[in-house]
Amino acid sequence: PGTRRWCFADQLGPHFLDRPDQPVLLIESRAVFARRRFHRQKAHLVLSALRHRAAELGDQAEFAQVHTYAEALDRVREPLSVCAPTTWSSRDYVLRRPDLTVLAARGFVATQDEFTAWAEGRGRRRLLMEDFYRDNRRRHDVLMDGAEPVGGRWNLDHDNREPPPSDGRLDVPEPWWPEEDEIDERVRADLGRWEADGDVAFVGDDGPRLFPVTREEALRRLRDFLDTRLGAFGPHEDAMLAGDRWMTHSLLSPAVNLGLLDPLEEVHAAEQRYRDSVAEGDPLPLNSVEGFVRQVMGWRDYIWHTYWHFGRDFRHANALAAREEVPDWLADLDDGAVDAACMSDVLGDLRRDGWVHHIPRLMVLGNYALQRGIDPLAMTDWFHRSFVDGYDWVMVANVVGMSQHADGGLLATKPYAAGGAYIDRMSDYCGGCRYDPRKRLGEDACPFTAGYWAFLERNRERLAPNQRMRRALQGLDRLKGLEEVVEQERLRGTEVI
Ligand code: SF4
Repeated sequence: PGTRRWCFADQLGPHFLDRPDQPVLLIESRAVFARRRFHRQKAHLVLSALRHRAAELGDQAEFAQVHTYAEALDRVREPLSVCAPTTWSSRDYVLRRPDLTVLAARGFVATQDEFTAWAEGRGRRRLLMEDFYRDNRRRHDVLMDGAEPVGGRWNLDHDNREPPPSDGRLDVPEPWWPEEDEIDERVRADLGRWEADGDVAFVGDDGPRLFPVTREEALRRLRDFLDTRLGAFGPHEDAMLAGDRWMTHSLLSPAVNLGLLDPLEEVHAAEQRYRDSVAEGDPLPLNSVEGFVRQVMGWRDYIWHTYWHFGRDFRHANALAAREEVPDWLADLDDGAVDAACMSDVLGDLRRDGWVHHIPRLMVLGNYALQRGIDPLAMTDWFHRSFVDGYDWVMVANVVGMSQHADGGLLATKPYAAGGAYIDRMSDYCGGCRYDPRKRLGEDACPFTAGYWAFLERNRERLAPNQRMRRALQGLDRLKGLEEVVEQERLRGTEVI
C-alpha cells in the first residue's frame, strides 16, 4: 500500500489507488500509437485523459512522456505496484518485470476468483451470460427484493426490442457534451505534429471531443444520463435511426473503460434513481433500468471475464474458416463510397465520432463481416482501433465470440447473421436505400439479404449440428435461385456495397 502506483491509461479513477494521496506513476508511451492506425479521436481521448489525470494529481504524480514503458520504469528508484492491466500482452509485460508488485485487477464487478467459482460451479455446462448476470446481481444485491429480483423477473429484454418510433424521433434531449480545454489543444497539436512527421497514422475525423476525460466530466455524463435518458433507455435500445445516432444510450462506455468510473458506481446510481422514483410515486420503467444494469454488470463484466477464461489463444479461434481481408473502404471508414444506406450511415457516424451503439456494431458492421467471411482477428483489431471505447479485452470476446461466431458457439448459441428484413424492421434505413431488403437477386438485391443466404450456404455443414439453426437451414433448402444468389455474392465478395 505504501508503494508508488503505476496507473495505466485505462486505470485513471480513484479506485485504482489504495488511498487518495498515494504517489502515482503515469506513462505516456508514443510507441503505443505508432504500431497501428487508430481512430484519431481515440488517440485524442486516451492522451487527453492521461494528461488531465497528470495535471489533476500535480506533484503526487510522476508523469513520464517517453517512447516505451521501460524507459520510464527503469528510472523509478522506489517500490512500484500496479493493478493487473487489461490485456494479455500488458499483463505478461508487468509480470516479467521483477521490480513491480502486481495486484488484482480493478474496475470490474466480479473478481477473477468469483468468476472462476461461478464458471466451475456444480452442473454448469455452459457459461451463459444470463446466469452470470444473475449471480452478479445477487452478490451485490442490485435490484433485488431479498432473494428475488425486483418486479419478480430477472430479464425484461423482451420489452426492449421495439423498432424505432415511426416518426423517427425519441423524446429525449441532446446529451450533455464536455468542453475542450488547453490540454485538448496541446493533444491536438501533438497528434497533428506526430502525424505530419510520419510517426503515426490515423483514421477518422478529428474532434470535437465528445467523451469524458476527467472524473468530473464522467460523473457529469452519468448524471445527465440518469436525469434525462435512463427512463427511456430500454424500449428502443436495439433500434437504429438515421437522424439520431445517440438515441437514449448512456455514452458512458469510453469513461468506464478509461477507469474514470467504477461500473458498480454506475449500477448503484441507476438503482438509486429507480428506488427514489418508486418512493416518489412515479416509478421509472423497470425494463429501462434493468436493461442498463444488464449492460454494465451483465454484458460488460461477462466479456471481460471470458477474455481471460478462454485463454490467450481465444483470439485465434476461426471456427467458420473466415479468411477474407478487411476491405479498404471499411478500414478507411469511407462512408462516401458506400451506397447501402445502413452501412453508409453507420460508417459515417464512426468516421465522425469514433462511436456507434451496440446494434450498428453487431447487426450492420459485424453482420457484414460475418456474412462476407472476413478474418475474425482482423475484424477484432479493426473494432479495437476504430472505436473510442475499444480495447483488446473488449473486442476479442465481443468480435471473435459474439459477433463472428468464430469460437464455434462458446458465447452465443447461434451466429448473429441477419438479412435486410431485420435491419428494415429495426431501423429507418431501407426506405432511402438503392437496394431492396426483400430482393436477393439482381441489381437492387440487398447485400445483407443475399449475403445472409450465401453465408448459410457456405457454412451449411458447419452449422448443421446447431439445433437453433435448423429452421434457417431448412429455409435454405426451399429457397428459389439459391445457386444464382451464391454466385452473385461470390462475385460481389467484399467489394464496396
Ligand atoms: Fe441496408 Fe439492405 Fe436496407 Fe439497404 S436495403 S439499408 S443495404 S438492409
